[in-house]
Amino acid sequence: MGFLIMTLKERDQQAVWHPFTQLKAARIPIAIVRGDGACFYDDQGTRYIDGIASWWVNVHGHAHPYLAKKVSDQLQTLEHAIFSGFTHEPAVQLAERLLKRLPENQSKIFYSDNGSTSVEVAMKMAFQYWSNINRPKTKIIALENAYHGDTFGCMSVGARNAFNLPFSKLLFDVIHIPVPVKGKEQECLRDLKKALMLDDIAAFIFEPLIQGAGGMVMYSSEVLNELIGLCREKEVITIADEVMTGFGRTGTFFASDQLLNKPDILCLSKGLTGGVMPLGATSCAQFIYDAFLSDDKMKTFFHGHSYTANPTACSAALASMDLFDLPEVFENIARIEMKHAVFLQKIKGHRSLVEVRQLGTIIAFEINTKEQTSYLNSLAEQISDFFISKGIILRPLGNIVYILPPYCIMNDDLDYIYECVELFLDGIPKK
Ligand SMILES: *Cc1c(COP(=O)(O)O)cnc(C)c1O
Repeated sequence: MGFLIMTLKERDQQAVWHPFTQLKAARIPIAIVRGDGACFYDDQGTRYIDGIASWWVNVHGHAHPYLAKKVSDQLQTLEHAIFSGFTHEPAVQLAERLLKRLPENQSKIFYSDNGSTSVEVAMKMAFQYWSNINRPKTKIIALENAYHGDTFGCMSVGARNAFNLPFSKLLFDVIHIPVPVKGKEQECLRDLKKALMLDDIAAFIFEPLIQGAGGMVMYSSEVLNELIGLCREKEVITIADEVMTGFGRTGTFFASDQLLNKPDILCLSKGLTGGVMPLGATSCAQFIYDAFLSDDKMKTFFHGHSYTANPTACSAALASMDLFDLPEVFENIARIEMKHAVFLQKIKGHRSLVEVRQLGTIIAFEINTKEQTSYLNSLAEQISDFFISKGIILRPLGNIVYILPPYCIMNDDLDYIYECVELFLDGIPKK
């Protein structure tokens, strides 16, 4: 067999199982060899604009020299260390710097290693808070159409759909209330009030201002303020899952910065390290932390991951925070927001669109199709293929196409994406 040299793609197909991919029907994956700024290059030298920030994680661009240098320095100093009974500068400094940026009521950082674990930690903190103060509660309220990750707890609070159907009997009971999109605010408030009459509610979890995987569904800060206010009156813990919205995505550092009523717990990941390394963080208010301080060992938070607070990942996050301290990053965010807004005005009302909507650096196009709006909409593959043929990575959520770029994306590249979106919409046959 020595003479048989397989390509990377062939070796991939023999050995690898990819996420969110039906491997039987799967296209041969594109082999990426190099990243630079908002772009990738494949093994043929073809350039692709990363229009979705590599699953929403990338912030400052790919292969960023400053991030690379800081991570490399850290690797040569302390690559990893157990985080129970030991500590290190990167974890402490990152906690300090996150707390400076987080809403004022946040006072402690608990580390994990991805978005799903940051949400699991949040929910376990909330449930055990009630257990520790001897008022155990067993229910969580969540929004319909939500996505909070792929572990069992996260699936439980997420929308019940095709993704978790094989596990539906294994998920815990959750009270789902309508998403307070324009026109549905009262319905949502009414259902929350009703749910809050129960005595058994530990927490309310939500993706603040925008539901990501659910199709970039947006709702107002005013109604979220009201929802949080109602929870506060009933002493129900509020959990903002900012895994997607954190680190400038919605135009402010955190989506919660746009709220008057601050959540009790925030979940962070994706952009936390600038998109360089996996890392999760869950922050909480002091009263939650206090409920775990006790002479009773049973009140300990028995949760931790082998790579909790990995110093290398923390160093990437610290380097990313350094870049956020420069004016350029928020100038870029404002630039993208403005360009999106101009394009939105231009394209809205297009015959192929149900709606176009924007929040911060995210613009989403809901395409008119005969099928229902959903992730499994058959238009999705057509959309991906079209944009790949144009050298653009846009991976739609069913019939919802969205642009969610690294903040360093150049105007020319952004204009080219808009141009191709328009071309795609024009190409959809009239009904
Ligand atoms: C992506 C995402 C998660 C899950 O994060 P992973 O790192 O993929 O586990 C959780 N919540 C929200 C809002 C997300 O967008």
